[in-house]
Amino acid sequence: MFDIEYLDIPPLTRAAGTVHLPGSKSISNRVLLLAALSRGQTTVHELLASDDTAVMLAALKQLGCTVKQDGDIAVIGGLGGQLVQTKARLFMGNAGTAMRPLTAALALLGGEFELSGVQRMHERPIGDLVDALRQLGCSIEYLGNDGFPPLRLRPGQLKLEDPIHVRGDVSSQFLTALLMALPLVARRDICIEVVGELISRPYIEITLNLLKRFGIQVQREGWQRFTIPAGSQYQSPGEIHVEGDASSASYFIALGAIAESAKGQNGIEILGVGADSIQGDIRFVEAARMMGAQIDSTPNSLRISRGSWPLKAIDLDCNHIPDAAMTLAVMALYADGTTFLRNIASWRVKETDRIAAMACELRKLGATVKEGADYLKITPPMQREAWKAASIRTYDDHRVAMCFSLAAFNPAQLPVRILDPKCVAKTFPDYFEALFAMAEADTTHIPVICIDGPTASGKGTLAALAAQRLGYHYLDSGALYRLSAFAATRAGVALDDGAGVARIARALPVRFQGDRVFLETEDVSEAIRTEAAGMAASKVSAHPQVRSALVALQHSFRRLPGLVADGRDMGTVIFPDAPLKIYLTASARHRAERRHKQLISKGNPATIPAILQDLEARDARDMSRQAAPLKPADDARLLDNSDLSIEKSVAQVIDWWQGTRPF
Ligand code: C5P
Repeated sequence: MFDIEYLDIPPLTRAAGTVHLPGSKSISNRVLLLAALSRGQTTVHELLASDDTAVMLAALKQLGCTVKQDGDIAVIGGLGGQLVQTKARLFMGNAGTAMRPLTAALALLGGEFELSGVQRMHERPIGDLVDALRQLGCSIEYLGNDGFPPLRLRPGQLKLEDPIHVRGDVSSQFLTALLMALPLVARRDICIEVVGELISRPYIEITLNLLKRFGIQVQREGWQRFTIPAGSQYQSPGEIHVEGDASSASYFIALGAIAESAKGQNGIEILGVGADSIQGDIRFVEAARMMGAQIDSTPNSLRISRGSWPLKAIDLDCNHIPDAAMTLAVMALYADGTTFLRNIASWRVKETDRIAAMACELRKLGATVKEGADYLKITPPMQREAWKAASIRTYDDHRVAMCFSLAAFNPAQLPVRILDPKCVAKTFPDYFEALFAMAEADTTHIPVICIDGPTASGKGTLAALAAQRLGYHYLDSGALYRLSAFAATRAGVALDDGAGVARIARALPVRFQGDRVFLETEDVSEAIRTEAAGMAASKVSAHPQVRSALVALQHSFRRLPGLVADGRDMGTVIFPDAPLKIYLTASARHRAERRHKQLISKGNPATIPAILQDLEARDARDMSRQAAPLKPADDARLLDNSDLSIEKSVAQVIDWWQGTRPF
């Protein structure tokens, strides 16, 4: 997805299909670090490709690890517990799963390091970890505010005799960091004692589980005392597979619970995590069942469909599923009463203050929310009319963006706007694509922006850029006429044989891929862009049979989340219900000059008078033909871009579009 400001999700109705989850963030980053610290080479399969893992990989490379990547496989050459680089400045972005354990590992290994991140990372506490490391004799300095990154690490004198005390009630990542770092210096038994109640225990279980895979057997007494035995040494397991992300699964589990299944289909199938998952958030399944979801599992897959409806309000201590519980807050919008999510204080120190963020955004949708230091009480909008179309702020927090997408199933059939949707890249870069592949909307609710106009008016560039800005699909309908003429000529069908060309148009094996156009496997992007191809297209497009042969194909481009279509009759014939229609013109002289520039830059000889004559002939034919002549739709807005830059034209389209929106 491009760098877009917002994504408008149309009201959704049903859903069905299969999703392959991306790898777990928590497991991916732990495995990468453990592989880097180990002796030997580790091949990591199904590694998550995301902002947070990119941060970890970049840091490991800086530290001298060899990293080879091929798709979702990474081969890490381990450092064998020894530093190659003893000096580096490392940028941790907003990745807590990289910041905390790297701080601990590097502080213990010695060397001079600076670790910093984005502004929010500098607001996320790390003091409890630093305190614990200082007890061990590590030399750590705060470069900004005390208790927060950025940090400077220097070699220290390690003291490993006494038990190390670490607080467990702010973030379990501090304990995880120590557990992963201390085997590097386990010349003797090293004991860690947790002070206060340990939160997010499932994440500690993941850590212990993975440590075992890398040769470290931690001894545990309850959740209070952990001992790393003397002589522990990291050893690569050789190969390791990363499970699908159980927290990411929560959005699709909720999807299955909320959405009716698409016709003839059996709910939502999730591949990559299941009953055997080592991730704590898999227990979201139990919470979703309590709310009414129907869930069947295999060791590594889940199948979900709607059970009770409306969902049942629940009262739940969420300490065991801190991340996935955010999804419950959105499911609560569809419940039959007030949902009470307790023991979620850790939300306050995550990517953003998640309690405040969820409360604020849920209220925008019409819910009544009570917010406490460590809880949320959510009462859904009482009737359909109480729902509001909302523009959801996402606070650079991937989970806020993902869970609020589910508000698009609201009974009031209102669209939902997600601001800064690309923040999902932290853990699930293709989240919205995955959602839209499974969700359905009434066709009439899928917005279309039509941009019609004469040849060389700049429709194509304008439409493609507007589509990019909105995260919408793009239909270049002229290409379909060009392709029909091209394929007909290839097949030896005369262009004036309407029925013959229509037969070919109906079965056009066309595929659009980025800005390339393929006929079967042949890239014909250039071949259909010539002046001659345009003239041929204009000829075949005058046949009513050809036009009707291409209708279904054009309609098939109207897919979630929306479409920008350019052509001659988008607004008048193909998408008459489109909420925004634009008729784009420029003077013939301007258009001829633009086309001239284009042709010259491609090395095609041309003169302006000849082009002008051609344009005028094409305009005349397009405007005078019987079938769908080129003319502005009655409700079209006129845009003359003779003297407008492309940026200004795009801004005008987006501005008009915004005027049609309920936000
Ligand atoms: O837009 P483009 O120049 O690629 O279109 C080529 C020709 O296809 C146009 O001159 C026009 O005759 C025809 N066309 C059409 N209806 C559309 C798009 C293009 O008739 N929606």
